[in-house]
Amino acid sequence: MNEPELEGGCQCGRVRYRISGEPVMAAICHCTMCRRANAAPAVAWAMFHEAQVVFLKDQPATYPSSAEARRGFCPVCGTQICFTADFIPGLIDLTIGSLDQPALLAPTLHYWDTERLPWLHVADDLPRFPEFPPVG
Ligand SMILES: [Zn+2]
Ligand SMILES: [Zn+2]
Repeated sequence: MNEPELEGGCQCGRVRYRISGEPVMAAICHCTMCRRANAAPAVAWAMFHEAQVVFLKDQPATYPSSAEARRGFCPVCGTQICFTADFIPGLIDLTIGSLDQPALLAPTLHYWDTERLPWLHVADDLPRFPEFPPVG
């Protein structure tokens, strides 16, 4: 079996990363924090163990988006790259939209559906979690 190896990065190319292996979870988040940070109605995330992800050029800049969470982005072009938080120790979420081939990583669930925009209806049969789903 070949381990899938995916790469991605920001729009300007300053932040690049490579991923080894399968995601722990791939999901669409509808929370207000992701919406604001990405200025997008919802955000698709793929979660990995930190050891699966290597940054190849610059590290993303980070800021605390809440007391327990940090978001990483390119300091030049602003692309949102990653999310880490105290409640998911050792794990890192990467924005699926920053992958070079985002079609290869399909979300398997929605979460924070209680904060989903009322006009956003995604026509799939994936499970919907009202808040953060169980990880693992
Ligand atoms: Zn950039
Ligand atoms: Zn979110």
